[in-house]
Parts: sequence; C-alpha cells; structure tokens
Amino acid sequence: MTALPSNLPKVLAIDDSVLIHRLLQVRLQHEQIQLFGATSADVGIKMARELRPDVVLLDIELDLKNQGMDGFGVLQVFKADPDLQEVSVIFISATATMEERVRALDMGASDFVAKPFEIVELQARVRSALRVQHLVKMLAQKAQVDGLTGLWNRTYFDRRLTQEVGEAIRHNRSLSLVMCDVDGFKKLNDERGHPFGDKVLERLARILQTGRGSDIACRYGGEEFGIILPNTVGSEAIEVADRYRRAIEQEVWPSVPGMVITASFGVADVFVLPSTPTTEDFIATADAALYRAKLNGRNRVEAAVAVQLPG
Ligand code: GH3
Ligand code: MG
Ligand code: MG
Ligand code: MG
Repeated sequence: MTALPSNLPKVLAIDDSVLIHRLLQVRLQHEQIQLFGATSADVGIKMARELRPDVVLLDIELDLKNQGMDGFGVLQVFKADPDLQEVSVIFISATATMEERVRALDMGASDFVAKPFEIVELQARVRSALRVQHLVKMLAQKAQVDGLTGLWNRTYFDRRLTQEVGEAIRHNRSLSLVMCDVDGFKKLNDERGHPFGDKVLERLARILQTGRGSDIACRYGGEEFGIILPNTVGSEAIEVADRYRRAIEQEVWPSVPGMVITASFGVADVFVLPSTPTTEDFIATADAALYRAKLNGRNRVEAAVAVQLPG
C-alpha cells in the first residue's frame, strides 16, 4: 500500500467478509481517503477507538456466524462513546428488512447501502458522509471558539479545566490556573467606544497566546480570560502571568498615543487546594487571588496561598 498523507479522512470498514474488504480496497483506492479494515466487531471497535475514523462502513450481519456482536451492537457501542458518537456510520447489509433499515437510521446511522452494492453509489455515499462529517467537525469546533478573539470559549474552558484537574490529580502532576481581568475596561469602553474595546480584547487575546504551546488561553467572558497551564507549578505560573502583565502594560496603541492598558491577574496552583478540588473550587481560588490584585491597586499578579494542613 502506498503511504498516504495522514490528514486524509479515515474510513473504517467493519465486515466479516474478506471479499468485501478486497473489493473496497480496489474500488475506493482512488478516493481521497485512508481505508482501514476490521473483520470482527471487537477488532472494529478497538480500531475505531484508536483511529477515530470519520466514516465507518458497518456490516449489519457482522460476526453472526460466531455468535458475536452484530452491526447494531457496534453502533450502540459507538453512540455510547463520547469520542465516537459523532462518527458517520454507513450500514451495509445483504438481507436487511425495511424494519431493520429504519431501526439502523433511528439508532443514528447516517446512511444505508444494500449488498451487492453498486460501487459508484457506495463511493458517492462515502463522499457525502465525509462532507457531512467535515461540517459536523467544523461546527463542533466553532461552538468552542470565541467569535471575537478566536480563543477557546467558556464552554471549552470548563470542559478542559475539568479534564486537566482530573489528569493532574491522577498522575500527581502540577497544574496552574491564571485568571486575568482587564482594568477599568468599562471606562475605556465609555470613553473610546465599544468597537475600540473589542479591538483591545482582540489584541490582548493575542498576547495571552504567546505562552508555551501546551498552555490553553480562553476567553472566560467579557473582559476576563482564563489560562490553563498544565505541568506548571504556581511559582512558574506567577512568572508567566507577570510576563503577560508587563506585555499588556507595554503594548503601544497607535490610535491613542500614550494610552496604557493594564490587567490584573490571579494565580492558583492545583496543590494549594487542600483536598481533591472541583473545577469550581479551582476557579474560585484563582478568582479570589484576582480580587486581591484588584484591591491591592490593579496591574498586578496575586497568587492563592497554600492552605497549611496540620502535621
Ligand atoms: P475593574 O478594573 O474592576 O475590572 O473594572 P472594569 O471596568 O474592567 O470592570 P467591569 O466588570 O465593571 O466592566 C467590564 C466591562 O467590560 C463592562 C462591559 O461592558 C465590558 N465588556 C464585556 N464584554 C465586552 C466585549 O465583548 N466588548 C467590549 N467592548 N466590552 C465588553
Ligand atoms: Mg470583569
Ligand atoms: Mg469586573
Ligand atoms: Mg475589568
């Protein structure tokens, strides 16, 4: 097989007939896809979890000879798996009744092709499923990106922070959270107009993206940002936040000579929280530090202090 660029969409065929795999190999070779094959439900599910295919061609009568799981069972597994539930599944069957087809579509299959299939039709259906899949992916991504700044939005922030807190605790790794709030932003909006305020937010977002590749900068809401720093202890996060603070303070705004915009920062390390922290505890702790930064004069970084446990 020739090596294909890995960014081509992946199609996984799960069918117990080796003949079908050979047919697909030959007939789909000129499509812009990477084709993978599995001949049993177990292997198919395992491969799907590893490959994250865009489209799955799934035989309904799969594994029936060896009393295994059929195509409906595989589809059920996909739909119950958050990583796989968006995959487009095209059912393939030689014997399916109308009721079975309806059941397949109702269970979330995106299409149905009867065996023996016309290969041109199958090619067209795969292409159509890939187009839908592309749109689904784009929409899913768009729903997590903030429209003004292009940073991850609050929805993504919450989900990702929960995930990172879990990982940090499981693997005993450090994790820090930086909350940032622009100083006197209401006044700036009032004096320069909302569109100018928007421009400022865009520019600040770009500054907050200049950290490590693994840092996750998000727009928390309004003029507030949250930056998740995996594998970063509090002292490092304070340095990062202070670098951002200085960069924002030093930013030159050509349309308003001499104007200085500043922001305040609150930093929390996952280990300053005494017990297994929830995502909300973590945010509240960083927020409390941010509040202190505001009280103590703004344009500064404050860190949450470690809670000393007795003994
Ligand atoms: P502080 O220093 O205490 O943070 O004062 P502040 O004025 O920055 O805080 P406040 O929370 O009172 O004001 C935030 C302002 O941010 C109010 C709101 O109109 C503005 N804002 C929120 N979202 C946007 C946005 O998307 N664009 C613009 N231009 N302004 C926004
Ligand atoms: Mg605010
Ligand atoms: Mg505020
Ligand atoms: Mg503010």
